[in-house]
Amino acid sequence: MDSLDRFSNRYEIEGTIELKTPMRIGGGQNAAMYSLSPAPVIECFDAGSGVFEPYIPGSSLKGILRSTLERLVRTFDDSKCCVSVGNKKEGMVLCGNDTCISCRMFGSMNGGAKVRIRDSHLTDECRTKEDWQGYLREQPHFGSPRPGGKGLMRPEESVSAGTEFRFHIDLDNGTDEEAGLMMLVLREFNYFRAHLGGGSTRGHGFCSMKGVTLTKLSLQDGVISRDKVSGKDCLSAAKRYLAGINSSPDSDRGFDRYWKAFSEPVNRFDDGHVVATLIVTCITDFSMKGLDEPTVTNGLGPVIPGSTIKGFLRHKLEQRETDKKIIDSIFGGLNQRGRLIVSDAWYAGKKGIGNEYIPKRSALMMYMVFDNMTQNEMEHITQFFDKEIQITGNTSAGISKYNQGSPKNRVKIRVESVNRFSAKKFLAE
Ligand SMILES: [Zn+2]
Repeated sequence: MDSLDRFSNRYEIEGTIELKTPMRIGGGQNAAMYSLSPAPVIECFDAGSGVFEPYIPGSSLKGILRSTLERLVRTFDDSKCCVSVGNKKEGMVLCGNDTCISCRMFGSMNGGAKVRIRDSHLTDECRTKEDWQGYLREQPHFGSPRPGGKGLMRPEESVSAGTEFRFHIDLDNGTDEEAGLMMLVLREFNYFRAHLGGGSTRGHGFCSMKGVTLTKLSLQDGVISRDKVSGKDCLSAAKRYLAGINSSPDSDRGFDRYWKAFSEPVNRFDDGHVVATLIVTCITDFSMKGLDEPTVTNGLGPVIPGSTIKGFLRHKLEQRETDKKIIDSIFGGLNQRGRLIVSDAWYAGKKGIGNEYIPKRSALMMYMVFDNMTQNEMEHITQFFDKEIQITGNTSAGISKYNQGSPKNRVKIRVESVNRFSAKKFLAE
């Protein structure tokens, strides 16, 4: 392990996290002092203003940064990094080896961490908005006690889309290579391959990292100098590292790597890790009752929740008596995580549409992540694209015994673009 006894340099990486979809980092047992929600988010007390505010604990951010780095490194070479977070493989624990870049940067039993991550707090712009308390909201969440079971409604608190946090990462006694790897990891959020907090498979925690800056503090002859560094040199150093270790192409479908990152796709939706940008067009008006809203919103405006779209897809596949193994692989089962991540669909236009309902002809943005899925699994989902579908149950759609038409909630999903993880492209862009 590199020595941390003596200061030689520090890279400071700063920027702003902008939430594209609501985020949920659970508040746990101590949240009762500031929230009445049965499922509150974590908040901290700001002594200056005397109020509680949502924030992102440094430990939460550190965890996801580490696992994202490990996923990238393991895509190129399994042996260069242990698995510390998520699905631990047998015998895979923090190794503490000098050759393990994640232990070197994030720490292990054998050495301290070179990386320190501060808590991320609301940006000043966000905080000075008049009704910042509006940045927290409760949404209905239908959870099934067992897969395929009847959903039970429980309210769940989340931080609204559009909320911004300031992050600050210190990397002590680091190298350009390590700083560059950190920049690559942050870029993964912008591609929506990494998400913040819980509930990401139903669309929580999509975010982008904006205005990222890199500053290097160096010690020379007892004087500390402070220079803005071009991220370009660091990114090149990090990519050289990844290209240099490349030795384990295309093995299993585990979530600790990008599957088939080294094969050339034949189809748009081919085996591998794919993030699709989708446009949802409302054929009719859309609305779905929220907890105390006429229709569910994400804090910025009305949305079609990711969980609703996912529920629709699962329900349809079950109706068509699709192989249970495929359904479990896509949506998750008792002992496995699902591979499909569906964001909310939100109105992206400039014209105000109010908070009552989404008017017909509105175009909404949505992302779907096909996490290491086979082409066959993806086809089970993409078969519903470019067709008119009724996305909610009949009650929300306004259909009853006396009204068999379909006055509401009919949409069409269309593919705008597709981004499949390719090692070659990753090193080039
Ligand atoms: Zn390790």
